[in-house]
Amino acid sequence: MARRKYVVGNWKMHGVSADILEISGIASAAAESSNVDVALCLPATLIERAVRSVSGFSFGGQDVHQEAKGAHTGCVSAPMLLDAGASLTIVGHSERRAGQCETDQQVRAKAESALGAGLDVILCIGESLEVREAGQALSTVQAQLDASLPHGEGAAAGVPAKFAIAYEPMWAIGTGKVASTADIREMHSALRERLVAAYGDAGNEVRILYGGSVSASNASEIFAVDDVDGALVGGASLTAEKFVPIVIAA
Ligand code: PGA
Repeated sequence: MARRKYVVGNWKMHGVSADILEISGIASAAAESSNVDVALCLPATLIERAVRSVSGFSFGGQDVHQEAKGAHTGCVSAPMLLDAGASLTIVGHSERRAGQCETDQQVRAKAESALGAGLDVILCIGESLEVREAGQALSTVQAQLDASLPHGEGAAAGVPAKFAIAYEPMWAIGTGKVASTADIREMHSALRERLVAAYGDAGNEVRILYGGSVSASNASEIFAVDDVDGALVGGASLTAEKFVPIVIAA
């Protein structure tokens, strides 16, 4: 099945209004790459500004609360992201799973809430170095996917077109270490089987991105791997100079 490539930048806790210039550079390059979908997941504070300044480009959040509103100090909900002009959000990034103690159940609830509200979702999963070295990467990541995959009413409307998985080995994030193409192929094909088991044929339409130290120098090799449908890019998405070659490689 032919799936369009999808390259998403995750700006993490970087970016103020002075960075709009980089964003418009990225958006112009994306407009010329008609065979790839490109988006930037920005800090919540920057989304509305970016949407106003750059038209025809997709912006997203990096996390979302599972409830639409309420007494949750510091949190942002799916309707708030939509209101700011976002069209997608990341959920379950390992920095939130580790740093904010997010569980698979919470991640699933966030994904369902976001899909139900009309946002596209990128659901992140990935193993730690300890798990990889113990030979348990496949079983751990498959279990993580099973437990955090959206089901229910919200998902029914959104799967698969509005939904993507990002496989991000934690030891590869921000370290300059990239999983081998053999390991990426093995993991993505196992995840594909899981998606088909969960959603039937529609599971073949869900895009599976790789994330973890993707850069201009390794992107082509990674994109050539079966079942790699794009990338979630952190550090190398912060400037047009570093990000645009990755978009072009896709
Ligand atoms: P990195 O981050 O590209 O800087 O390794 C990827 C991510 O955390 O999504």
